Parts: sequence; structure tokens; C-alpha cells
Amino acid sequence: MPQVKAYLAASATTGLAPGAVERRAPRSDDVVIDIKHCGICHTDVSQSRNEWGGSSYPMVPGHEITGIVSAVGSSVTSFRVGDRVGVGCMVDGGCSKGACEREHEHRDLANMVMTYNGKEHDGTPTYGGYSQSIVVKQDYVLRIPDALPLDAAAPLLCAGITLYSPLRHWRAGPGKKVAIVGLGGLGHVGVKLAHAMGAHVTVISQSEAKAPDAKRLGADQYVAASKPGALDAVANTFDLVIVTIGGKSDWNAYIKMLRIDGAVVLVGIPEGAQPVDAFPLIAQRKTLSGSGIGSIPETQEMLELCAKHGITADIETIAIQRIPEAYERIVRSDVRYRFVIDMATL
Ligand code: ZN
Repeated sequence: MPQVKAYLAASATTGLAPGAVERRAPRSDDVVIDIKHCGICHTDVSQSRNEWGGSSYPMVPGHEITGIVSAVGSSVTSFRVGDRVGVGCMVDGGCSKGACEREHEHRDLANMVMTYNGKEHDGTPTYGGYSQSIVVKQDYVLRIPDALPLDAAAPLLCAGITLYSPLRHWRAGPGKKVAIVGLGGLGHVGVKLAHAMGAHVTVISQSEAKAPDAKRLGADQYVAASKPGALDAVANTFDLVIVTIGGKSDWNAYIKMLRIDGAVVLVGIPEGAQPVDAFPLIAQRKTLSGSGIGSIPETQEMLELCAKHGITADIETIAIQRIPEAYERIVRSDVRYRFVIDMATL
């Protein structure tokens, strides 16, 4: 079992420090990836600090991984040494109770193996992308199109697919009005994707501060929610409202902004339960839903769309030693819009 260098959290309170983890020797269907870049997702901060409970240690976070194939198992047909590849939030799956279609694989939580803070089917803990290399079954490896740089493409593997999946499912496109609530790591990619898909895009943010950025990213309209009456002015407007912010927010205010048959989709993780008024849902057949990441085929489709339209994340590349500072800045929403670790600094 080869040991590889990594940055890991020894417990919920220690923060991250240099260390090493074991990677399995490649099996016949495995791809060995020399990691070049790894995005930092808010989930990394939350899980390394056990803010959602259930974290296991040592933990190597990171599920926005890009790199180069350095070896393949004997039965691997989809990838060759030297290929540009990525790994997102899952490294294995399978099927149980009829959820066998690959489309729903990431929703089969009993079988889905998370890239880190998870367990392989044989019980081995999984370690994420803040490391030199990773060994992943070929079916869970994504191809990064040549048009996409490995650094700025990394966040597409979680942030990108998290927004693409609901945009696709609720058919964002020409003639549709989409609102993205929150312009952060998730939201900024959502604006680019929705714009590329042909939808009319509105960004809803607290203050005016991000208005110039929203326009630059492709938004047609900008709403500063803290301005009195600003949300009332967009009542009954949108076909789709994607809420990327976590914490406390007023779901009823978003439902109010929907047209008949519109949907509010939560992708940020809210703080506890929120009361919901049933009447607007009933009277205008509105939907309150949620969405998490996406399937492997859908992720590949998203990467191809990004290559076609030149979409990547706006990133700040950092040396791995700067993770503690990056985590603090993520908590303060002080990054435009995603940190990406240059793994050459490990
Ligand atoms: Zn993530």
C-alpha cells in the first residue's frame, strides 16, 4: 500500500496539517491520478470541523480534483496514461432497491461512496484531493476537455455540477427566467451556466456590492435583497429560483417570486427547518425542491458544455500551506469565487 503526502485534519479542532495516507494498489478497473489541483468547497470546511456531525478522522478533504492519469489497471479502457481527468464528490456507487440507473446513483445514499469522509464498500476510509494522488474506479473518473484549464476547471466538479443539474432538470433555456440567490462559489458558476444555456438570469444578493461582477458573469438583472421592496418588485417573475446560500433564509420570499408552476430549488445547506406557507404552493402549483450534486454522465455533459462555452470558475490559486487562511476567508465569504490549491506546493 503506497503512502502519499496529504493535508489532513486529525480531529475536528486541530485544523489541517501535513501528513500521509495510504492509497490502494490499483485494481484492474482503477485509474491512478497524479493530482494537479483541488478546489476548496465550503463542505471541506464544515466536514473537517464536524459541523454536520458524523465526520471521521483523520480526514483529507477535497472533492474538486483535477490531474493527470499516471497509471491504469489492466481492464481500463476509457483512460490512458497522460489523460487529463477529474474526480468530483463520489468515487463509487452501485445500486440498491431499484435505484440502479446511473442517473440516480448519487441519490442512492446507501451505496454512494463519497470521495472523502466516506467508506469504500469494503470499509476502507476514503481520502480526498488535498493529496499527491488518488486511485479511483474508471467509471467514476471524468474526462476534462482540452479547452478547460485544470486549475479553473476543478470547482466545476462540485460547484459546477451542483448548479448544472437543477438548471438542466428544470429546463433552464431560452424563454426561461432564472434567479440565482447568492453570488458565491456556487452562484457564480450558476450564472455562467444559466447564461450559456440561454436563460434570462437574475442574481439576487444582499447588497449592491456584487452587481458589477454579476453583469460580468452574464447576469441580465441584479436585485439587492436588502433594499426595501426589492423582492416585491420581482414577485411572480421567475420559472426557477436556485438558492445557493446556506444559513437562515426566508423560503416564502423566494416562493413569492415564482410564476405559476415555478420551482424554488435549494442547493445550499440551510440552518435547520424553515416554516413554509402552503397557500402559494397550492394556488399557483409552485414547487419547493432541493438538489444535490449530479450523476457522473451529467457531470461529463456539464464539462463538455463548459468547454464549448469557455466556462470555468473564477479562482484564487493558493499554496496548500495557506489552507487555514483560506478556510477563514470562506467562512467570511471573502473569496471571488473559489480557492484552488496548486498541488505542486504540497
Ligand atoms: Zn463540494
